[in-house]
Amino acid sequence: MLSIAKITDGVFFLKQNKSIHPLSTSNGFLITPSQIPSNSITKEAGSVLIDVNLEEDGWLAIKKFCEEQRIPLPSRLIMTHCHLDHSSHVHLFVKLFDGVVYAPEPEVKVILEHDGFFHVYQITEMMEFPTLMDSYRHLKYEILKFNIISEEKVTTFKPGEVFDFKTIRIQTIPLTAHSPGHVGVKLILQKEASKIFHNSCLGLDHLKVNKDGTIKDGFGPWYGFKHTNIADYIEDINKSEVIFKDCQILTSSHGIIFTNKKNPIEIVQGERLFIKKLTPREKIESPSEYMKRKIHEKEQCIKNSLDKIGINKNNVQAVLNSTELMGKLLDMDLYFSKKRIPPRQLPAYKFWERYLIINQLKHILAKLI
Ligand SMILES: [Zn+2]
Ligand SMILES: [Zn+2]
Repeated sequence: MLSIAKITDGVFFLKQNKSIHPLSTSNGFLITPSQIPSNSITKEAGSVLIDVNLEEDGWLAIKKFCEEQRIPLPSRLIMTHCHLDHSSHVHLFVKLFDGVVYAPEPEVKVILEHDGFFHVYQITEMMEFPTLMDSYRHLKYEILKFNIISEEKVTTFKPGEVFDFKTIRIQTIPLTAHSPGHVGVKLILQKEASKIFHNSCLGLDHLKVNKDGTIKDGFGPWYGFKHTNIADYIEDINKSEVIFKDCQILTSSHGIIFTNKKNPIEIVQGERLFIKKLTPREKIESPSEYMKRKIHEKEQCIKNSLDKIGINKNNVQAVLNSTELMGKLLDMDLYFSKKRIPPRQLPAYKFWERYLIINQLKHILAKLI
């Protein structure tokens, strides 16, 4: 089921509620041509999607919604990065809408080549381990049903590039600690002088707003790739906080909507689309405080685990050098409860968890120097 919230005329936020796998979908925007003059890009007068990744019924729900609302079908999709939860079903968008995909240049190979994922995310060593490769392929192709896209349907952009239309400016903002081409997106609506910030996959992933107005934690920031440096990640979170201060609405790929806008956001379709109204009187943890807390909690958790296995925090390098000690930390289920993960997916999850731990250990080590 696809939930749709109308942010303002011609700007809709989309969220797929149920999915076949936690890595299967990403929330994003549908922007209609009332915001986009047909002469802005030659061929297309169609709508624009941003950061949307949906299973087949989700794309079909967009089609139905556009037809019912007499909105031109989407013809362009701007991707924020190419992690599997943002790229797995994009080939279906191309097929169903004959659409064109705009992908950040540093990551485009993920959607053009079957082995692009390993090169872009610098994890070619994964290819040397048959069990790990079986697990990765099972997840990517059999569960998520990923497919590559032909080159003529893909255009690249540089993180930071601006897509300028008559009544809306779509500004991409590099937040590249999460992945090498990862961008947030600032939508500047000229007519209303209002601004929306989508911080994409940065880690603002609250699961819901409870009845008492409190919000429920999600997983938090994902820093489980080799290139990630947690100090840089925290810088990106601080950068996103500054950008949000200038905006009325904050959205993300996997979380709820935050708003301090006076006009209500209208839920047009579906349920489980949570909106948290930010009022000056209610003191809640800010979005950036949430993301930094989630990182900090894991750091504490890893420090406690080092104590349990008898490693002094001044000897963190020993864990980084030892397969046996790393194995002990992996057995502690610091990030994933491995009992719940289907056996064939387990090697892939262990691989990601290993890098989450390594990046936290490197962060602890860097702070000691
Ligand atoms: Zn994501
Ligand atoms: Zn991501």
